[in-house]
Amino acid sequence: MSGATHRFHPTVLREYDIRGVVGETLTEADLYAVGRSFGTVVVREGGRRVCVGYDGRLSSPVLETALVAGLTDCGLVVERIGLGPTPMLYYAARERGADGGLMITGSHNPPNYNGIKMVLGKRPFYGQDIQNLGVIAAAADYAEGQGASVAIDLKAEYVARLAKDYVGPRPLKVAWDAGNGATAEIMRRLTAVLPGEHILLFDTIDGTFPNHHPDPTVPENLVDLQRVVAEQGCDLGVGFDGDGDRIGAIDHLGRIVWGDQLLALYSAEVLKTHPGGTIIADVKASQTLFDEVARLGGKPLMWKTGHSLLKAKMAETGSPLAGEMSGHIFFADKWYGFDDALYCAVRLLSLVSQAGEPLAALRDRLPQVINTPEIRFQVSEERKFAVIAEVKARLLAEGAKVNDIDGVRVNTPDGWWLLRASNTQDVLVARAEAFSDDGLERLKALLAGQLRQSGIDAPAGGSGH
Ligand SMILES: [Zn+2]
Repeated sequence: MSGATHRFHPTVLREYDIRGVVGETLTEADLYAVGRSFGTVVVREGGRRVCVGYDGRLSSPVLETALVAGLTDCGLVVERIGLGPTPMLYYAARERGADGGLMITGSHNPPNYNGIKMVLGKRPFYGQDIQNLGVIAAAADYAEGQGASVAIDLKAEYVARLAKDYVGPRPLKVAWDAGNGATAEIMRRLTAVLPGEHILLFDTIDGTFPNHHPDPTVPENLVDLQRVVAEQGCDLGVGFDGDGDRIGAIDHLGRIVWGDQLLALYSAEVLKTHPGGTIIADVKASQTLFDEVARLGGKPLMWKTGHSLLKAKMAETGSPLAGEMSGHIFFADKWYGFDDALYCAVRLLSLVSQAGEPLAALRDRLPQVINTPEIRFQVSEERKFAVIAEVKARLLAEGAKVNDIDGVRVNTPDGWWLLRASNTQDVLVARAEAFSDDGLERLKALLAGQLRQSGIDAPAGGSGH
């Protein structure tokens, strides 16, 4: 590999990360070029040292070697923290005061995928930052130097830090599912030091994901966890996505506790120590979450979907807590503000233990509404933003109440409906939430009518949580 000009496959430099099919759209040469171009950005900002980690995919070690070579050829010192979840890499970068961090991970995608998530200093590296790597590589406009790499093992320190914030007087029985993802080893070590009884599923790292797909926000991936919680009489169950930055949870009745519901429960805890704090959630979240934050004396803030966008907004507003429906949840009250699903599990166990009643009861105390899951439908890349603009124009002409922070979120007396364009795929995403079944049908009819007027067949969608 060399410092020659390099062109990435047009699909791999994405909004929030780099991702591709290994050996097809993403190769070792690409990883070297990312190392050179990202390393160049770090060097030009005066940085000298970065951390690199990788997930449990079969392709990850080889890609890591190529990435590290690119970084050291820029003159950087690379601290290699090895195999583990993405948040362990974020933790390493923060605790070691690194100038940047790069994580080789395909997150929850199929085994033949891989990719890279990046942070620069303390901030997320996304959008134009990532596109800029392509510009640097195409010009081979690289920093040059003789760097070095050193392996460091932070696992024991990281596990101790995760466990430190556990506070719970009542021992719990908990089922945990790593889905053979990169959290598996840390999950084993963490549960060994937490009080209570812990039943572990798929707690060996296996990049072929032989049991189920490591994405705990898809209900079919929670079936094993639901079975074990029922069979063993657990208080609750938690699951993690392939690289450990998204959490899924179920109560003892096997019901999914969704991202916005978790956030409502966490808000009650966080606002005790941060009264009046700003709590941020994405536009897909339930209105009941924003209402609950306000009821608890916090400042609810609705923001665009996208974990990097939420992280940036948190930093800007000094928010102690933010989260997405997708299970990315960010604590900045006692934690660092990045999305760490193992840490979210520690905080969930803490609040359930302290509550003295089951997670199911806490969940049922939240206002009950009827909503659809995310409804996704294909639309051409050229049309996706145009459709949103057309819908918005028609709604404004009708005098509808429209929030246009990310797509259109429309309030009616029945509730609300959302239509937004995905930043990462050629799909539109819709959701609706109402106080009654009839109301939900009316909202879905409004949504379908708008889509028809823009030439799109209305999607079929069932009721969700
Ligand atoms: Zn992930």
